[in-house]
Amino acid sequence: MNYEAVIGLEIHAQLLTETKIFCGCSTRFGSEPNTQTCPVCIGMPGVLPVLNKRVVEFAIKAGLAMNCKISPYSRFARKNYFYPDLPKGYQISQYELPICEHGYIDINVNGYTRRVGITRIHMEEDAGKNIHEKDCSLVDLNRTGVPLLEIVTEPDIRTPQEAALFMKKLRAILRYIGVCDGNMEQGSLRCDANVSIRPEGSSEMGTKTEIKNINSFRFVEKALEYEIKRQIKILRDGGEIVQETRLWNSETGRTESMRSKEEAHDYRYFPEPDLVPLEISHEMLEQIRATLPELPDEKIKRFVTDYRLPDYDAQILSEERDIAEWFEEAVRLGAKPKEVSNWILTEIMRYLNETGQEISEIKLKPLHLFELLNLIEKGTISRNIAKNILPEMLNTGNSAEKIVQEKGLTQISDTSELESLVDEILNRNPKEVQRYREGETKLLGFFVGQVMKATKGKANPKIVNEILRRKLS
Ligand SMILES: [Zn+2]
Repeated sequence: MNYEAVIGLEIHAQLLTETKIFCGCSTRFGSEPNTQTCPVCIGMPGVLPVLNKRVVEFAIKAGLAMNCKISPYSRFARKNYFYPDLPKGYQISQYELPICEHGYIDINVNGYTRRVGITRIHMEEDAGKNIHEKDCSLVDLNRTGVPLLEIVTEPDIRTPQEAALFMKKLRAILRYIGVCDGNMEQGSLRCDANVSIRPEGSSEMGTKTEIKNINSFRFVEKALEYEIKRQIKILRDGGEIVQETRLWNSETGRTESMRSKEEAHDYRYFPEPDLVPLEISHEMLEQIRATLPELPDEKIKRFVTDYRLPDYDAQILSEERDIAEWFEEAVRLGAKPKEVSNWILTEIMRYLNETGQEISEIKLKPLHLFELLNLIEKGTISRNIAKNILPEMLNTGNSAEKIVQEKGLTQISDTSELESLVDEILNRNPKEVQRYREGETKLLGFFVGQVMKATKGKANPKIVNEILRRKLS
C-alpha cells in the first residue's frame, strides 16, 4: 500500500517593532540578560498592558499579503500555563477571535501551482528564555513580551518539499512587507509541523504527531522526511501511531518523543480582561493596504512579461526584494535583462553564498555590472575575461574599465595581428591542419584554444573563429 502525508504548519514570526507588544521595552537582540524589562513584561501584580499599535498594523499587513480576511472585531485571550520563563503565569494571545482568517499562499512546485490555505494569523507575546548551565538554570526575560505572529496553515501540504517551498515563500512575503527579518537560525522565524499519513487516495485523517524545534529550511524538509518514514514503518509493521509531540534533533537526524497526548496542556483560555476588544476601522484597513509593496507573485509575473525572463529566473530573482531591485536598477541603466539575470543567478549569487552578505552590502553596484556588460558588448573584453575580473570587482568595488586598463586585458580585435598569429599556429601544427581538412572539423576548438593560450585569453573569439574557418577551408 502507498501512503501520502498530510502536513500542516504552525509558524511563529517575530515582528520587527522597536518595542514590545504591551510595554515600551526595547526588542533589540543580544543585549545583556534582563536589561530590557519592566514591571509590565515581568508580570508584576497590578500592572496593565497597553497594546502596541505597530503590532496590529504588522499583523494586518501580513494578513493582507497572505490573502486573509481581516476581522473588524477581534479579541485577546489568556493562555494559562506555568513555566519559569513566563513569570505572570499566562501568555496573552488570541484564541477564538483572531485578527486574520481564511487566507492562502501559492507555491510553485516543479512548475505547477499549489495553493496552501492559511487558517488564521494571530498576535501574541513571546515568553522569556531559560538558560541551563551545569549546576543551575538562569532566566532571561528580555524576550518576554516581544511581539509574535502565529501563522497556522490548513493541512494542505503533501510533501516535505512543498513544506520547505511554503516556508521560503512565507519568509519572502514577510521580508517584502518588512514585518519580520525571517532569520530562522536566530529564531525570528520558527516552525512546528503537524504530520499524519493515510493510504493514497483516502480522504480520512490519520493520527498526527507534532514536530517542534525545526530551525532551518533544510531541517523542515529533513524532519518531515524522517517523520513520514517513521510513521509508514509503524503502520507497515502493524503498529499504531501515537498522538504526541516530538522534538527534531538535528544532530541525530531523528524526531524524538517529547510528550504524549495525556500530558498535553489544558490552557484554560479565557478573554483577556485587561485589554479591550480590537476594532479595525475600514479607514485603517485601507491605509495599511495602501502601504503594501509589490509582492513576490506580482513581481514574478511582471518580470516574465516586461523583461521576457524565463519563469525560473523571475522566481529566483524575486525571492529577495533587494535582489529584485538590484536587478531592475541594472536594467534601468540599459543592460539587457537576461544578461543581468544570468550574472546574478551565477557569479553574484555564488559570491553572496560564499561571503554570507546581502546584495545591498556588496561593493559591486548595478552600475558596475552595467559597465562590465558594456565592455563585452563593445568587444573591448571577452566574456571569459569579464568572468575573470568579476571577483576583483566584487572584492574591491573597482570599475571594470579600471581593472582592464591596469592589467592590460583589452581584447585583441586587430584582424591583421590575429591573422599572423593564426598563420603561425597553423604552421606549427601541420598534422592537425591535415586532419581538419580531411573532415575532423571538431579540431577547430583545438586551434581556437591555441590562439587563446598565445594571447592569454585576450583574442576576440569571434574574429579568431572567422579567420580560422577561412584559412582552414
Ligand atoms: Zn517591559
